Amino acid sequence: MASDYILGIDLGTTNSLVGVVDSGFPILLADGEGSRMTPSAVHYGPDGEVVVGSAAVRQRAVDVQHTVTSVKRLMGRRAGESAWQPPYDLAGLGKTAVQVSADILKHLKAVAERALEAPVTRAVITVPAFFNDAQRNATKLAGEQAGLTVERILAEPTAAALAYGLDKLEEHRRIAVYDLGGGTFDVSVLEMRDGVFQVLSTAGDTQLGGDDIDRTLAAWIWDNCGLDPARAYDDLQSLQRMRLIAAAEEAKKHLSSVSSTEVLLPFFLEQQSVQVTVTRSDLEGLTQPLMERTRKHCLRALADARCEVSDLHDVILVGGSTRMPLVRATVRAIFQREPDVSQNPDEAIGMGAVIQAGILAGSLRQVVLLDVTPLSLGIETFGGLMNVIIPRNSTIPCKAGEMFTNAVANQSEMLIRVLQGERELAKDNWELGRVAVPFPAGPKGSARVGVQFAIDANGILQVLARDTATQADTVLEIQNSAVDVDDSRVEQMIAESVDFAFEDMNERIWTEARLKSEELTTAVDEALIQCEGLLEPAETVKIRECNAEVRRLLGVEPHDARALKAANQALDEATQTLAVLLVERAMEAALERKLGL
Ligand code: AMP
Repeated sequence: MASDYILGIDLGTTNSLVGVVDSGFPILLADGEGSRMTPSAVHYGPDGEVVVGSAAVRQRAVDVQHTVTSVKRLMGRRAGESAWQPPYDLAGLGKTAVQVSADILKHLKAVAERALEAPVTRAVITVPAFFNDAQRNATKLAGEQAGLTVERILAEPTAAALAYGLDKLEEHRRIAVYDLGGGTFDVSVLEMRDGVFQVLSTAGDTQLGGDDIDRTLAAWIWDNCGLDPARAYDDLQSLQRMRLIAAAEEAKKHLSSVSSTEVLLPFFLEQQSVQVTVTRSDLEGLTQPLMERTRKHCLRALADARCEVSDLHDVILVGGSTRMPLVRATVRAIFQREPDVSQNPDEAIGMGAVIQAGILAGSLRQVVLLDVTPLSLGIETFGGLMNVIIPRNSTIPCKAGEMFTNAVANQSEMLIRVLQGERELAKDNWELGRVAVPFPAGPKGSARVGVQFAIDANGILQVLARDTATQADTVLEIQNSAVDVDDSRVEQMIAESVDFAFEDMNERIWTEARLKSEELTTAVDEALIQCEGLLEPAETVKIRECNAEVRRLLGVEPHDARALKAANQALDEATQTLAVLLVERAMEAALERKLGL
């Protein structure tokens, strides 16, 4: 019999944690070695044995190719899509990122069951706020493969805020969560209002963290040790690089409390050893560019939340890398205040996951959590434009929809391309999936297809298209395999939408004007034939001139959207009498038909 426990799990890039609310208290559970932090590492042995955690990290030193680490960076991506290159070949091991994550989750489940002496089947799992749909789905799938019902996918900053107990403070609090872990960076602005948490904005980078500092420092150590100046760091064997990276991480951590440390790697190249002194200022010089990147995200999150630094009540730090003095100084400078460091930065997210699990299990007071969508979601419409259905930073769960019609006569299906991104043109956004919606063929504008986007509390998107005539539904599940995006470009997408705002807007106005022009010019040609001889010759000349001007502008490069819009309007005005004549003719024809003439 499964127990009523719901596990709270922080499935981290470097380390993972599992816990549960027991007798009203959130606790993190320790593994057989007495450690509450389980390294997110899995070693696959030659006979199919799977080793997870510290034991796997020990194996990494001797068998790097069969030891998978930082797999979170590969979640929800296709092979080779990630900017990050792992020192192992996942496909060669016959594994997917989801399977490796499932192995870690199985291990955490076993740790919990051993500590609780009861089987557990339900869990809350955290993901970076910046994880997109595919990545959240992949995480959920990993949970299911580990034999867990995933009750909630929880954004990490929201979990952290829960751990800091910010839900118990007075109302109308605004806080920022700065989370720099091993592999990812997130910054979010949250608001506590009437007992409800709301994420006002979120920004970050799924490819930025302590691992990057380790690699940069490892290369620096090699360049400065003078062992073999002719050999570049990248030309070292992967095992040698791993040794340097491990030493770099040790030195980095040490430099959070001392100002200088020595790196010593005996017998690095045969008899020769690596021996270098690294100072905190050396490390800070190498870390500074990463700090600048986090600063940009912080400013963006504040701007998106329409929030000034002075509107914030607290800034909390999460993630092991926030122990670095330079990180704290950076946060202090950006937010102009001392950050709250009262929680253990490694455990805050795990604790928050446990608290949320406790709330769901009914063992803790209810707090409603609201999250936001990191990027806009929409569909492609006629002319290749992006039609946003759910704007970025919308609170989830949410639903929104729109009615679409056929643009051409006798069309019998409509292709719905689901897009994610901030750009005005469909081609610049990412396609999450596509589905063809059939409907009975008819004249232009006769079909009525309702498209609804629904994002559930886990941030997973479902697209429903309904032909209102037949009531037939087409459902598109956005599954991880359908994502054709490079997720490390999420931040770039937002930056580009700002950089190209002017060009994009111009292209949108142009496309809209062009569609109108094409419709107008053909209609005017036909009307002139139908009403020949009924108009004043001068008026006909004027209409022809206006029509020719629209056609000329359609061919002009570069596109002049404003001129085309003006020409459309002039043509519209010039054809007022023509339009009246057309209506009269249509009425006469109808009357004749009625009278049987
Ligand atoms: P997390 O993903 O939150 O578990 O954070 C792990 C990252 O924090 C790794 O890159 C660690 O190297 C880093 N880290 C842990 N302790 C320290 C420390 N004392 N100083 C600097 N970085 C640290």
